[in-house]
Amino acid sequence: MDPFDSNVAANLPRNMIENSMFEEDPDVVDLAKDSAAFPTFPALDPDEVMYEPRSSRLLVRGLGENDMDEDDEDCESSARLLGISFMNRSSAHRSSSFPYTRQAPPRSCSRPSARTTVVCVLFLVIVASMTMVLYFLPGCTFTKAGCRKTNKTTPFEPVYPLSTNGKLFPWAQFRLPRSIIPLSYDLTLNPDLDNMTFIGRTVITMSVHHNTKIIVLHSAHLNITKATFKLGDQETRDVTVLEYQPRQQIAVQFSEEMKAGQYCVLTLDYSASLSHTYDGFYNSSYINKDGEKRVLAATQFEPLSARKAFPCFDEPAFKATFLIKISRKPNYMTLSNMPQAKSTPLSNGLMQDEFEKTSVNMSTYLVAFIVADFTPISKNVSETLVSVYSVPEKKEHTDYALDTASELLGFYNNFFEINYPLKKLDLVAIPDFLAGAMENWGLITFRETTLLVGSQSSPLEKQLVASVIAHELAHQWFGNLVTMSWWNDLWLNEGFATYMQYMSLQEVFPKLDIGNSFLAVRFRALDKDALNSSHAVSTEVNNPEQVEEMFDSVSYEKGASILMMLNAWLPGEHQFKKGIIQYLKQFSGLNTETENLWNSLTQVSVSAQHHNVSEMMRSWTSQKGFPLVTVSRKGGQVTLTQEHFLLTSDKATYTSSLWNIPVTYVTDNCSLDHDCIQMFNLKTKSGTLELPESVKWLKLNYKNTGFYIVHYGDEGWAALKDALSSNVHVLTQEDRASLIHNIFALSRLGRVSFYQVLNLLKYMSNETESSPMTEALLQLNVIYRLLEKRQEDSLVARMKKYILDQFGSLMDKQTWGEEESVSKQELRSALLGSACSLNQDNCIQQAKDLFKQYDQSNGTSRIPGDLQQVVFTVAAQSNEDWGTLLHMYQTVTYDAEKRKMLRGLASTQDPRRIVWILKAGLRGDIIQTQELPLVISTVCNGFAGYLFAWDFIQENWDRLIEKFPLGSYAIQTIIKSATSQFSTQAHLDQGFFSSLKERGSQMRSVQEALETIRLNQRWMDKNLPTLQKWL
Ligand SMILES: [Zn+2]
Repeated sequence: MDPFDSNVAANLPRNMIENSMFEEDPDVVDLAKDSAAFPTFPALDPDEVMYEPRSSRLLVRGLGENDMDEDDEDCESSARLLGISFMNRSSAHRSSSFPYTRQAPPRSCSRPSARTTVVCVLFLVIVASMTMVLYFLPGCTFTKAGCRKTNKTTPFEPVYPLSTNGKLFPWAQFRLPRSIIPLSYDLTLNPDLDNMTFIGRTVITMSVHHNTKIIVLHSAHLNITKATFKLGDQETRDVTVLEYQPRQQIAVQFSEEMKAGQYCVLTLDYSASLSHTYDGFYNSSYINKDGEKRVLAATQFEPLSARKAFPCFDEPAFKATFLIKISRKPNYMTLSNMPQAKSTPLSNGLMQDEFEKTSVNMSTYLVAFIVADFTPISKNVSETLVSVYSVPEKKEHTDYALDTASELLGFYNNFFEINYPLKKLDLVAIPDFLAGAMENWGLITFRETTLLVGSQSSPLEKQLVASVIAHELAHQWFGNLVTMSWWNDLWLNEGFATYMQYMSLQEVFPKLDIGNSFLAVRFRALDKDALNSSHAVSTEVNNPEQVEEMFDSVSYEKGASILMMLNAWLPGEHQFKKGIIQYLKQFSGLNTETENLWNSLTQVSVSAQHHNVSEMMRSWTSQKGFPLVTVSRKGGQVTLTQEHFLLTSDKATYTSSLWNIPVTYVTDNCSLDHDCIQMFNLKTKSGTLELPESVKWLKLNYKNTGFYIVHYGDEGWAALKDALSSNVHVLTQEDRASLIHNIFALSRLGRVSFYQVLNLLKYMSNETESSPMTEALLQLNVIYRLLEKRQEDSLVARMKKYILDQFGSLMDKQTWGEEESVSKQELRSALLGSACSLNQDNCIQQAKDLFKQYDQSNGTSRIPGDLQQVVFTVAAQSNEDWGTLLHMYQTVTYDAEKRKMLRGLASTQDPRRIVWILKAGLRGDIIQTQELPLVISTVCNGFAGYLFAWDFIQENWDRLIEKFPLGSYAIQTIIKSATSQFSTQAHLDQGFFSSLKERGSQMRSVQEALETIRLNQRWMDKNLPTLQKWL
């Protein structure tokens, strides 16, 4: 699956352009201001205007963005000492105001004397100890009979839950038992698109692996109306199905044991509603060119939703074959994983389409079917018919996808030395789709944005579409053919598909210049993995939220990064490739664990010095985080030391982790070519390498292909800075970007001062390449936004001046016409995005002119694709053009452009519009709900919107988790974008997340949010006083 990051191509600090587009009086968010100043615009419900963010009052009216005042702190520490819950008190007075009001606290808490404190503490300790003793003593202790001795040899009996019918449910675990294995499913589905319901029949043939009296499988929200069972040659008989809804399991219990080796068939008839969210068998609709609403139904099963469409053993290791039949109205068509075998008229006027039985065993999450009125274009690639489907009016946007998919299919067939095993491969653009795309075997589903490309689309838009196609096609091998056994190893699917996506594009479409994007996503993966709330690549997964949460940058981007590092480390060009071919062939049709991959790669090792891949890679997949390598040099002797790069590092979180690091380095003697690379394996805490005395500087981690950060020490950084100042081309652009990323990370860690960061950035007046430039702008923007949201106005102004001094001349040099080179487009959109967000007159004027031309041309003039975002964002800041843009948004058919318009609309600094757009995103009429995470993240970037958004999330939390599953990528995005710019104690103290309890407080993204706020606070505390001096 491609989770579709709302900020695709993370290398572009596009966020910057939504940021403080116009520096306005902070009163802009005070709705008490004359509302007549805001002209009306379409679809604005007057009821919705009466919304004021509780939180906005705090910062906007300057009631205090500082930490608790001293009295408050005193109260808290005293209260803690006395064992009184400070949280209760603070939440009590919180309820009468908004979450982080800086009102004067009640003065009821006077400070106790030291003696009182000691007496109180002693008293409390005694009382607490006695209470605990009494509590933990068994109830029988004080009875006459006393306690009976328990028989210690009796194993614990599992505690079985109650089924919905009140009987005991015979299974008490999250994972299914493995005594019964499904072999084949025969599915018949009769969807009714008028009433949004469906009726189904599932016939499952199973084999008994171990003697058992129960069959347990998954089912969610299905109303099972009849169940029959047949064991071996016995008669078919009716059986009762027990259901335990909290675990989405059903069971059939027998009085006699079924014996290993027997076969049995369970037939279940059921009815259900089509899902209104984005998973299971869900309904979707679109308006066609005649203005009619067309409905359709599609599926999204990964990770846990196949059970919402048919009862099944819904775990990836239960692979089986599927034979699927679906009925439809004659004017609709159906699609499924396999080609259609036949179509039969039914007595009720409907048609029933039957698909060939799958020729491969597959996991339930890969099953898919669609009922719609799409149109295809097709092409043969060796034995496979490749087709791209879309709604009829977008057929003209499908050519690029067909060509790209065909080329990539040919490439993968060759590369893996295993042909794609099915006779057809459909790529379908679905109007309502939450993820970026989903790799269902033979029927890959996409968002319209990630599949459809207009004839005039820019190379950057093509890059997005090509990389999503490349990712999903790679899954047809990694994931579909060979599947992880359980979700703990999701990275085997996603890390690989992500790596192959970049690798294949570089080979097949070098013009798309995908390298910069890959570098940028590796930087972001490092940033996330530096948090204590991160997790190991392979990590335990024991509940549905944890399954959802595996779809994160650790599984995807860190997974891809460590594969890249491994590929660079293995000797010879083809060892990596040979290893993965060996892995795919050995485990074809089966399920694997991480160790299986490392073993395959070790087996093909050809070098004299035996490369033990398992030994090296285990250190990267079994522990969270990554190493910081510190360089210290005395003459020719260079000592490298490793430690865990952990941003929240105190004694409690200190780890003694060691990594097996394939360190690469170059020196001023030879630094640009691949041949210059020297290697050093750092397995222990520290190691020493020798250099000629004459070497002036060395740069570790050539092109940032390794997953670690390097600290060069004061002298090492100074030498690199001097070298770059006299000639930027002494290092590759990837290496320059890597230095910039690393020094910002080290500043966040507290190892270098911000002065050193600025010192390195001095070389950038000569920088012209996209990667270092976008990385620097992105990093500076993070700080700029934090300062802005703390209303450090004078520092915001200085930061703005600093950015313009550094990059202004390059910003002015950018052109506004069509541009072919991808990297020039990336550079240009980053620079102009920043320039306009910083209110540069020239930029704003150019953008306004382009928008005007575009608006007046009636579709004949075009804004270059890479500049559309800048232009729409500038336009959205004016009352009049915001309305025009909203109208365009509602009429434009090309989805990529439409999304940029939406980001523009959401970047408005007008509070009424912010409220309107958030609500519209939740309603899903004018703005599709699938776009809500994008809307929220865009709104959060702006000064006017981020508190509105935070209130909106808190108030609508239950509706949000109804639309987007807990832990899902969408929820992760929402939490992250809403909280990543908080930096005060007040924000930490709110307690919203802890109040969620089972509705989300345990999510890793919540821990990540809290940790990030703490780190922001720490960085601000440390650097605010000195930023004044340095900027
Ligand atoms: Zn994927």
